[in-house]
Parts: sequence; structure tokens; C-alpha cells
Amino acid sequence: MAEKADKADHTDRRARRIADFIAPLRVPPGSDVDLAADYDPRYRAHLKKAQGAELLRTGVELLAEYQARLAAQDTYGVLVCLQALDAGGKDGTIRHVMTGMNPQGVQVSSFKVPSDEELDHDYLWRYARRLPARGDIAVFNRSHYEEVLVVRVHPEVLDRQKLPPSARRRGIWERRYREINDWERYLTDNGFKVVKIFLNLSKEEQRTRFLKRIDLPEKNWKFSAADVRERRFWDDYQRAFSEMLSATSTEWAPWYVVPADRKWFARICASAVLVHTLMELDPRYPTVGKKAREELLNVRRELEAEAPEGASEDPYAAAHPGAEPPLPRKRSRKGKAARR
Ligand code: ATP
Ligand code: MG
Repeated sequence: MAEKADKADHTDRRARRIADFIAPLRVPPGSDVDLAADYDPRYRAHLKKAQGAELLRTGVELLAEYQARLAAQDTYGVLVCLQALDAGGKDGTIRHVMTGMNPQGVQVSSFKVPSDEELDHDYLWRYARRLPARGDIAVFNRSHYEEVLVVRVHPEVLDRQKLPPSARRRGIWERRYREINDWERYLTDNGFKVVKIFLNLSKEEQRTRFLKRIDLPEKNWKFSAADVRERRFWDDYQRAFSEMLSATSTEWAPWYVVPADRKWFARICASAVLVHTLMELDPRYPTVGKKAREELLNVRRELEAEAPEGASEDPYAAAHPGAEPPLPRKRSRKGKAARR
């Protein structure tokens, strides 16, 4: 009993530490964000890289445990939206944070320039098709937020969306923010938690990473001249991000601005945000009712009776003598005879 209370206490303390760690990254709902002034891409909470590896390991372990519970409970789904400018580190973050998870319960979707089929639908259609099922975690590598970012920065992209004139009037961005907030509220109310992470990269660090892609032959494949052209719109993007963060960080689905100039720190933050979300959901392994328990006991007796000559009745229980049996042990006839 005391052991159980200790464990709960330890979990509580850990949950509080994680909540404190990510608190400065959370965009308070209703705030008026000025990205450059409010969030420093180089912030690292006084952590050193060496400490970072250990923290990330802990995060990965916790995620594996909570994902297993989420899947077993089969009540909640989690949607993780990752946004960043080019070279912001989305791919690496997904790779590092999601290791340790059961691939059967995670789906990653990358959203690129929309296809003709996608443009033939309302703008949220392609994202809705990739939502997680209950028990699953879906990661959006870019997300429905592109609809108020790239589409806003490049008006010609909006032209391709075939909207009726009434949907293109002034106020379109405010309307999209509202529609996105409503959609996320609907998902949240129905058991689908929306986690939103923006990897906040500085312009100088982006320049460095682009140059690295040119300088190192094994990184050449990642280099894209289009990314460098997009960099000319840096200020427009900063404004679009600031407005998006101000308008769509809500109580039910807040944004987290993760400092991204140090990849190792960004990964710890992303992992902490996800762990925090899952800890709050606190999914539990389902417990069985009285009738199902009796059924389990009956089956156990049958299996014990099948033990071959010389084998233990219940090899698992024999190998874990100290463990508290999850079900009361009722001895089978064969068992009693064998012990005599
Ligand atoms: P990586 O470069 O690491 O492979 P990425 O996400 O940058 O990943 P790309 O294929 O390089 O993938 O780029 C995807 C492009 O699609 C981006 O330039 C993005 O702005 C664009 N895009 C995403 N969503 C939309 C959208 N709804 N409308 C128009 N363009 C979009
Ligand atoms: Mg790209």
C-alpha cells in the first residue's frame, strides 16, 4: 500500500516538474503575441546539452508507457500538430520524440502543396481525413495551420482554392481562425486532444542550417532552392505566425512555442509537451468486472491443469514470486496433488 502511495507521489512530482518546465512555452489564450519580442529561439532553461540526453530518454520512456495505456483504454485520441519554418527541425523532432512508441498506434501525415483532389474540397477536408482514431496518436508534419500561414503569405495560393466570392471577403483570416478553433473544440469535446507545437527558429540559425545542407554532401538532398526563396518572406511569416498564435491559442488547445535554435533542447521541449498532455489525460488500463474475473480464474485453472509433467503450473507466477498476484490464487486439484 505504502509503495503504491509512494509511486503516486513520485508521478505527481514528476507531472508538476514537467508542467513547470513547459509553462514558459505555453501561449496564454487571449494574448497578443509578437513572436520576435516574446519568444527567444535560443532559450534553453539553463540546461546543458549533456543533461538533455538524460531528460529526452526519460521523456521517451514515459511516452511509451502512456501510449500503451492510451491504446488500451481506447477512449481518447491525440493529435499533435507540428509547425515550423523550413529547416526548423520537424523531421528530427518526430524521429527522436516518437522513438519508443508502438508504430501501430502512431500515424505521421505530412502535408505538402495540396493536390487537385484536395483543392476540390473545403480547406479542412484533407486534415480531417488524417485524424487519429481513439487510442491512437496522429502527428501532423505541417497541419491545417498552413491554411492561415503559407496561404496567407502567398495570396496566389488562396486563388487556387476555388472559393466562392462570399468566402473570400475581408475578414477571411479571422473567419478561418474561428473555424479552426471551433473544429479543435469539437474534437476536444469528443475525446480528441489537440497538441500544437511551433518550432521557433531564428533567421540566422536557418541561414546556418541551409549552408550546412550545401556544405555537407550527405545533406545536399535536403537542400531546396525554393526554401531559400521562401526565406525572403521571413517578416511576412513572422507576422502570420504571431497573429495565428494570438488567435488560436485556446484553453482547450493551447500553442507551445518551442525554442528551436538548439535541436537537442527543442526535442526535450516537444517530448515534455506531449508527456504533459498524456499525463493530464491519464489513460488507464481497463479493469475487468466481477464476471470477467471469474472467467479468468476458470481459464487459469484450466491452463494450470495442462502443465506438462515436471513443468511449473504457472511459469509466469513462478518466475515472479514477489509480485502481488493480480487475481486471487485458487488452487486447482492437480496443483494440490502435485504439492503433496
Ligand atoms: P522537408 O523539406 O523536410 O521534406 P517540408 O514539410 O518542408 O519537409 P516540402 O515538400 O519541402 O516539405 O514542402 C512542402 C510545401 O508545401 C511547403 O512549402 C508548404 O508551404 C507547402 N504547403 C503545405 N500546405 C500547403 C497548403 N495548404 N497550401 C499551399 N502550400 C502548402
Ligand atoms: Mg521543405
